[in-house]
Amino acid sequence: MIIHHLSEQSSILCQYLLELRDREIQKDRLRFRMNLKRISHFMGFEVSKRFYYNKVAAQTPLDIKQAKSLEEDIVISSILRAGLPMHEGLLETFDKADNAFISAYRIEDEEQIKVKVEYESSPDLNGKTLLLADPMIATGRSILSCLVELKKFGQPKRIFLLGIVASQAGINKLNDHLQDDVECYIADIDPDLNDKSYIVPGLGDAGDLAFGNKL
Ligand code: URA
Repeated sequence: MIIHHLSEQSSILCQYLLELRDREIQKDRLRFRMNLKRISHFMGFEVSKRFYYNKVAAQTPLDIKQAKSLEEDIVISSILRAGLPMHEGLLETFDKADNAFISAYRIEDEEQIKVKVEYESSPDLNGKTLLLADPMIATGRSILSCLVELKKFGQPKRIFLLGIVASQAGINKLNDHLQDDVECYIADIDPDLNDKSYIVPGLGDAGDLAFGNKL
């Protein structure tokens, strides 16, 4: 797996990430969702550098200019519910993309935390460029389980995994399970996981911070 760790380079993305992590600033849900979306715009821009473009002639009102046209059949998929602000940001960037949605949640089963994948809706993924977004890649189990499920809808030509914060353990797990040509874009990588598999320092529960607490 190829990893692109975006906050290694200082940019405005680091400010958005700081605001996502700060426990006072993150009380503003609108700003929290907006920052997930703003980072996703930049992530989309970074991913777009890996796409194919055809040379075309653009006819302006004044003349013809040689230009580049995006040649990629993109499907954006996000993991409900925390992935929704990322989905919105990516869809604004790749406005002609098709869309898939999948739900995954954790169930605490005796000692273990398991991931249950339930709702799925996807177009045919054969030959497509799949962008799979999950803001928090903690153990890596949710995104891997979702990828297995999504592949039942067809074999994508290229796979990009996008996250805001990952744990080092999560990144290691993805590395162990995915082929070399899968690319992972992550805003930041944190060192630890706690006993509830939350990323530490992380930012807390991204779904609750974006949409409110659940029962
Ligand atoms: N999901 C979250 O929202 N936060 C974490 O730290 C891990 C998983």
